[in-house]
Amino acid sequence: MSIRKIETTPSPVLRQKAKEVGVINKKIKKLIADMTETMTKSSGIGIAAPQVGESIRLIVVELKGGKRSNGEEMPKFPLTVCINPKITKCSKETEISEEGCLSVPDIWGSVERFKEVEVLATNEKGENIKIKASGLVARVFQHEIDHLEGVLYTDRVDYKTLHKINSKGEKIPFEI
Ligand code: ZN
Repeated sequence: MSIRKIETTPSPVLRQKAKEVGVINKKIKKLIADMTETMTKSSGIGIAAPQVGESIRLIVVELKGGKRSNGEEMPKFPLTVCINPKITKCSKETEISEEGCLSVPDIWGSVERFKEVEVLATNEKGENIKIKASGLVARVFQHEIDHLEGVLYTDRVDYKTLHKINSKGEKIPFEI
């Protein structure tokens, strides 16, 4: 396993529509291991392949509980690899909460997302999996699957809420 460099804006790979994964070969397995390690090292709760420079449809999600970097309480969700994920159902209800992104470092902002989603995907063993997620977990899946379409949360953010957090933990308004 190795830590990969995280692509940050305005890297073009973040704006490409990612390609479907065919066979889960050694290269894909290595990429999954690297993405997992890179996400963990960066204290991320999700990562998409384009964020490490690979324009393919693969995401990894894991929520370890405890507090998010913005102080919010985080639920637990086991390490889950999703190859060619698709959102197949979403709730009528939406909710607004803060998001950040490893590819848009140190910036946070409020984004409206579906409260619940159902995701179909293939896991690292090639098995079909169905995930029913709500709240922050549903938000992470929507955020990561957006990456596969070349969409960043800053495309959906309420601009008035964009901010940085300084070393004293204070919110500093930010404009892109
Ligand atoms: Zn992101």
